[in-house]
Amino acid sequence: MPINLVSDTVTRPTPAMLEHMLRAPVGDDVFGEDPSVNALQEQAAALFGHEAALFCPSGTMTNQIAIKTHTRPLDELICDEYSHVYQYETGGYSFNSGVAVNLIRGQHGKITADQVAAAIKPLYDWLPKSRLVVLENTCNKGGGSYYTLPEIEPIRQLCRERGLALHLDGARLFNALVETGERTEAVGAQFDSISICLSKGLGAPVGSLLIGPRDFIAEARRFRKVMGGGMRQAGILAAAGSYALQHHIDRLRVDNDRARTVGKLLAELPYVATVRPVRSNIVIFDLVAPHTATSFIERLAERGVLASPFGPQTVRLVFHLDISEAMQQKVMEILENMELETA
Ligand SMILES: *Cc1c(COP(=O)(O)O)cnc(C)c1O
Repeated sequence: MPINLVSDTVTRPTPAMLEHMLRAPVGDDVFGEDPSVNALQEQAAALFGHEAALFCPSGTMTNQIAIKTHTRPLDELICDEYSHVYQYETGGYSFNSGVAVNLIRGQHGKITADQVAAAIKPLYDWLPKSRLVVLENTCNKGGGSYYTLPEIEPIRQLCRERGLALHLDGARLFNALVETGERTEAVGAQFDSISICLSKGLGAPVGSLLIGPRDFIAEARRFRKVMGGGMRQAGILAAAGSYALQHHIDRLRVDNDRARTVGKLLAELPYVATVRPVRSNIVIFDLVAPHTATSFIERLAERGVLASPFGPQTVRLVFHLDISEAMQQKVMEILENMELETA
């Protein structure tokens, strides 16, 4: 089996998680009658101090539903140019919601209140209406960078003053929280809605949660249905999510530490031009010419390590639940030996 660092989405359910899934009571969630889905939704809402939550098949769906619920056609959403909602959701903001996107060039995927203030459009008939700000924490394309609460608070304040909604794409939020030590309730208080992924580093096979006020989630539920996301005995999947929230948050530290260690090593290797600051479980680095990401990744794969290209000379490694200490050592060895061959 190759060592798969392509993404933290590749994790498989652990035996204990599978046990938990097998025992899950189920019902029809389209009727709101699946006890395991209901339990997960209540657990997630309580975790962030919000009233309600909605279990969805993917993080793309929770983000798309959030955009749809917060906006009307001819509105615009403001986000960093690296944002998942802009880069990797097939342009769904326009397809599903008929909104424009107003991109900010932040730092490693992070934007400031001043940048948002400058981006908000005045109210003219000929301009889209600035309606929603989306922050991503941690930021995938930003190399796993994260916001701290003092960085979010001024953006929250600004959105409140200017009547904009604030959504958090928290696909990997817990990778940030194990670093900052910040509490989920404190994060919850800063956002009108939050999306978290259960299927990334938390290790569940499927699923994301959209969290927010009760009336917002009631509306979101209608959009989930029209997008085809109403699932029936989804409790088996929700049980995996509940298990992950109970057992797999603290250990994300280990993934972050492993990424940092590999980042340090890479920074010293002659074939590496730059390593983006490693803040959580993602390592993004640029190769020196003439190496290309494609050939480097091919050669890594021949040695049993899978990685993903993130640009012509850019490579991404993601650490997760299925990477053991021994695999980590092996990866370090392989990366060091690549140095010898290319020196
Ligand atoms: C993975 C991810 C999502 C959602 O992904 P799905 O594959 O649709 O579950 C959303 N935002 C970010 C930042 C992500 O990394």
